[in-house]
Amino acid sequence: MAFALLKYGLGFGKFERQFPKQKDLKDSYDVVIVGGGGHGAATAYYLARDYGITNVAILERGYLGGGNTARNTTIIRSNYLTPEGVAFYDESLSLYKDLSNDFDMNIMYSERGHFTLAHTDAAVRTSRWRAEVNKHLGVDSELVFPNEIKKICPQLNLSEDVRYPVMGALYHPPGAIARHDAVAWGYARGATMRGVELHQKTEVTGIKRSNGKAVGVETTRGTVNAGKIIQCVAGRSSLVAKMAGFKLPIKTVPLQACVSQPLKPFLDAIIVSGSLHVYISQSSRGELVMGGSTDPYGVYQNRSTLEFKEGLMAHMLELFPFLGEVKILRQWAGMADMTPDFSPVMGETPVDNYYIDAGWGTWGFKATPVCGKRNAEMLATGTVPEVLKPFRLSRFEEFHQVGEKGAASVGH
Ligand SMILES: Cc1cc2nc3c(=O)[nH]c(=O)nc-3n(C[C@H](O)[C@H](O)[C@H](O)COP(=O)(O)OP(=O)(O)OC[C@H]3O[C@@H](n4cnc5c(N)ncnc54)[C@H](O)[C@@H]3O)c2cc1C
Repeated sequence: MAFALLKYGLGFGKFERQFPKQKDLKDSYDVVIVGGGGHGAATAYYLARDYGITNVAILERGYLGGGNTARNTTIIRSNYLTPEGVAFYDESLSLYKDLSNDFDMNIMYSERGHFTLAHTDAAVRTSRWRAEVNKHLGVDSELVFPNEIKKICPQLNLSEDVRYPVMGALYHPPGAIARHDAVAWGYARGATMRGVELHQKTEVTGIKRSNGKAVGVETTRGTVNAGKIIQCVAGRSSLVAKMAGFKLPIKTVPLQACVSQPLKPFLDAIIVSGSLHVYISQSSRGELVMGGSTDPYGVYQNRSTLEFKEGLMAHMLELFPFLGEVKILRQWAGMADMTPDFSPVMGETPVDNYYIDAGWGTWGFKATPVCGKRNAEMLATGTVPEVLKPFRLSRFEEFHQVGEKGAASVGH
């Protein structure tokens, strides 16, 4: 160990950069991707890998994955409520399963099983509804009752002597977690290895338009022309869309989460309670990863509050009373772009050559692979893939919303 440290410290080891050194910005690219989170990096990866389109720049105002990608609690599942949502997220889940091989990098994908607890008759009914939609579309989900929950998660408090006893749950065995940074790194490494340029600390400050077409971007490092532009900026979608000249039906609110000190592994499953507004999983290094619903007011700030932590813990202790002495290690927040129907906004926009990947609220990490793959197809072929069509921006004026509130509010 000491020798290895000395060798690398003195530079005798062979180092390989994860990413090529940042270059000067070129005057022009075939595709400019605004936002270097998971979705932007995945879009670049599939453009390069599947279509050989490598004259591409990812422009990121901060650092790779430093937005919501590195702030999320990594729940991956496809047990949604609408057929459109189920098909979309299930494609993503399938892609996730092979990502470590694709990247030759371990993204620590770990299938845990996912329980959405039902504490009311209405929640039991929604669970049954979701289970039936899921099964119909080939997704493994089942309505289960306390005796079955107990077999898989004996640590959960299933007593009837609590304020909100557990009446049942939607059980989704493929529910998983993964290492979030590794997803962004893997995609960005695979893209840059093939010639895509990643420009960090490069903020897009304006979208250049000519005759109703997007033709380039203004950045903090100068102007760049572009054949096509896609915005993948999660919690700042309305701000960037405004630069392109259109409005989004999005409300942006903070979403907080926290982790505990590391504990011996005791919790294999991912547990979500919509009624108690909490969810919990245990990471591979033993930390309990916990979160809840969004903050009730809209601000563009990544700050954490004591109020959130107190509320979360009060409810968490109802589910796991023995955690009373466990310490919270870190707490943080990201920005969630909430749409009226809790589904994303994908595809074409009112501006020609300008595409969108937005409305990711509290649920977009799991969608990273499918977004990247299908965005790339759309940019390369000029045709919107079928799986993206239900999420078009125009659905709001057409009254064709894709209502996922029953499956996406606290569930993430
Ligand atoms: C606390 C929390 C928990 C969550 N838990 C889950 C979960 O368990 N499962 C799940 O599926 N989802 C979850 N999410 C949601 C998920 O994190 C996001 O939907 C997802 O990460 C969005 O990915 P992205 O690549 O679109 O965005 P980001 O990772 O946010 O990337 C967007 C990037 O765009 C950059 N950017 C913004 N404006 C500009 C500009 N003008 N110029 C250049 N760059 C710009 C930002 O700096 C940022 O890096 C959670 C979110 C939070 C905050």
